[in-house]
Amino acid sequence: MSIKESLLTIKKELPDTVTLVAVSKTKPVSDLEEAYAAGQRIFGENKIQEMTQKREVMPKDIQWHMIGHVQTNKVKYMAEYVSLVHGVDSLKLLKEINKQAKKHNRVINCLLQMHIAEESTKFGLDKEELNNLIDSDIFKALENINVVGLMGMATFTDDKNQVKKEFATLKEIFSSLQSIKSTNLDVKILSMGMSGDYKLAIDQGSTMVRIGSSIFGSRNYS
Ligand SMILES: *Cc1c(COP(=O)(O)O)cnc(C)c1O
Repeated sequence: MSIKESLLTIKKELPDTVTLVAVSKTKPVSDLEEAYAAGQRIFGENKIQEMTQKREVMPKDIQWHMIGHVQTNKVKYMAEYVSLVHGVDSLKLLKEINKQAKKHNRVINCLLQMHIAEESTKFGLDKEELNNLIDSDIFKALENINVVGLMGMATFTDDKNQVKKEFATLKEIFSSLQSIKSTNLDVKILSMGMSGDYKLAIDQGSTMVRIGSSIFGSRNYS
């Protein structure tokens, strides 16, 4: 299937409540252009430098999402334009995003990444860390970031029950957080689900899926 066909097939299956982020990391600009021509306007990248280079040559009405782990010292390169940062898992990073957003006189939307998988290699906060973060005075004073939701990745496994359980846990945390609102906390986006598990994620309440290989084909890392 072409990129266009894959994209349109996936889009047709998604409920109206679910936003599609086309994960174009490692893919050439020509692939992104094909997805753009098919109507896609939200792209996800996991390296700030790569995202910035692609942005320079792509149409300006694209929303760029940073989905990977963010290095504090690179925030400055995306602060001017990034529309959503999915992988925020520390107050230190949030402070840096706030600082850089301020320089551009804007408010950057962020998702807090939760650790829901069994693997210890995946980044993210646990529930206690999440609560400590949003309760802290430092967090409450950040005026140039807006926490608009949560993001999580399930364990990489064929065990659907395991994956389902992890997504359900994240959804529960998401729901409990929705009752807490402040000037920089307004939780409405639940980013969960990738090519292999997005249907399970949607069943468990996902509002945003991040899909790469099912649209663009498998990635070759060299
Ligand atoms: C690469 C990546 C995706 C997309 O993965 P696919 O399996 O290709 O759909 C989604 N989320 C994150 C955080 C990623 O790094």
